Amino acid sequence: MIGKRLYRARKAAGLSLRELAAKVDLSHAAIKKYEDEVAIPNSAILLKLAQALQVRTEYFFRPETAALDGIEYRKRGTLSKKRLDAIEHEVIDQIERSIELEGLFPVPPLANFAPVEGLPKKVDDLAQIEGVAERVRNAWALGYAPIRELIDVLETHGIRVFMIDANADPKFDGLAASVNGMPVIVVASNWPGDRQRFTMAHELGHLMLANRLAAEIDEELACNRFAGAFLLPRQAALQELGRHRSFIELKELALLKAEFGLSMSGVLYRARDLGIVTHAWRDEQARVFRQQGWHITEPGAAYPVEQPHVFEQLIFHALAEDYIGESKAAELMGMHIGAFRKLRSLEGGHAASYQ
Ligand SMILES: [Zn+2]
Repeated sequence: MIGKRLYRARKAAGLSLRELAAKVDLSHAAIKKYEDEVAIPNSAILLKLAQALQVRTEYFFRPETAALDGIEYRKRGTLSKKRLDAIEHEVIDQIERSIELEGLFPVPPLANFAPVEGLPKKVDDLAQIEGVAERVRNAWALGYAPIRELIDVLETHGIRVFMIDANADPKFDGLAASVNGMPVIVVASNWPGDRQRFTMAHELGHLMLANRLAAEIDEELACNRFAGAFLLPRQAALQELGRHRSFIELKELALLKAEFGLSMSGVLYRARDLGIVTHAWRDEQARVFRQQGWHITEPGAAYPVEQPHVFEQLIFHALAEDYIGESKAAELMGMHIGAFRKLRSLEGGHAASYQ
């Protein structure tokens, strides 16, 4: 058991056998023996390994969740194998904790992901996607109001969202995968909130539109349309902007962005797709945006970044109902008991680090 966990933690740290060996004053052959479970490290070595790999020693003893042995990528972008290994480790580690925690509830607290019922079997026109997005919003009781906490909405419906620090990967444009059939979306924590949201909503589009799109429809365009329609539904856009406009003020775009968490460029696409403005006018605005560099950083306030809350809420729910004790809660949060007690009594900082 320790061997497999050690291997995972080493991959996650991006270390070769030799690099790890050097950090703990052992031979690479010794590390290999631990990983192959030919030998078992004693507790002093285990502690050194844990420090070198920045995990707690408990990590090595956590049972592997059955059948949770890999990620299937739908989209992995341009990430290096090393970065992908590290992300995969983080994702699997967090999913293991979630599964363990959810398994302690007498009734599963979260739904499994399923495409919403009543979606059209075949989508052969992009305009139909307006209806698909509405259907999903209705099924999830979102009405036409802005979605404040998109991550929580997705997690409540069985889609896991993870944030990674992608400062080192400027080309990182998100990742989508499944673990045991559970959809996983990974976005960068350093992106502005509207970009995170658009990526999440786009990936939700892939999940909802899978096997429904006619061959002549471009799936990426379809998912962009879904993302826009999901974040800023037709009714809301028409109500806010009116049916026909010859011009839209920059400030109006900024206000809609602040309200619905869709970028100003995204709002311009919505206005065009809904026939509120002409294609030519939208194209002209896009030119202005490029000239001003607004296609990279939009003017005005950035939309705030979201934080996932579901896991932490379930921890305290489980604690309140005595499904788990304080030490289990701390372990699942990856915190020391003292820090966890502070968090529980609202005295401490927050659980920014789960490791
Ligand atoms: Zn896509």
